[in-house]
Amino acid sequence: MKILLVEDEEGIASLIRRGLEKANLSVDRAPDGTTGLQMARERTYSLVILDLMLPGINGLRICEALRAEQNPVPILMLTARDAVEDRVRGLETGADDYLPKPFDFAELLARVRALLRRDKVHRTRVIRIADLELDTAQRRVTRAGVEIGLSHREYDLLEALASRESQILTRDVILDRVWMDEDSLSNTVDVYIGALRKKVDAGHEVKLIQTVRGVGYTLRAPMVGESP
Ligand code: CA
Repeated sequence: MKILLVEDEEGIASLIRRGLEKANLSVDRAPDGTTGLQMARERTYSLVILDLMLPGINGLRICEALRAEQNPVPILMLTARDAVEDRVRGLETGADDYLPKPFDFAELLARVRALLRRDKVHRTRVIRIADLELDTAQRRVTRAGVEIGLSHREYDLLEALASRESQILTRDVILDRVWMDEDSLSNTVDVYIGALRKKVDAGHEVKLIQTVRGVGYTLRAPMVGESP
């Protein structure tokens, strides 16, 4: 889970970064609007904290651009106190919430947590790939109608793969998404994939978890005519 912080003021940026890191959230920071927009396009973030007044491209235009590209990332906009018009415009351009400056860090953290939670709820759904079914609300998994018991981590790994069906995820991306910023060795992923295969694929003719040699892993149903 990674947060993008687009903020040009060094003092505020480092205060926010330190606070979020203390709360176990990892942060990338962009010091201007142009870099911020580019980073938001290139990486998948769990949340963008976007200052309104920025050198380069301002916060409203970044927000507009991301929404025009159908980027669903939650956006928390930092606005000047009492600039009601800015807040309204922020929400109109697709920001999910706003926080007037100056703010208490506790208030920022509460908003951040609420948005991360809300995003999770929004994404809740049932994922079906062939006869595999993930109920993301209840974190329950079945294959051919039979429930599979998974550890917390195994479930996270399976959901990371299943929610990006047919996309190849590298070990680094998996480590980043499932293990977040904890220190883990890349063979951790291989070990967990092995465990997941035993539970999800063993005993089934069709193998859903596939290794892409030298790259990473993907979860997909074999195409018609392809050997399982
Ligand atoms: Ca600023």
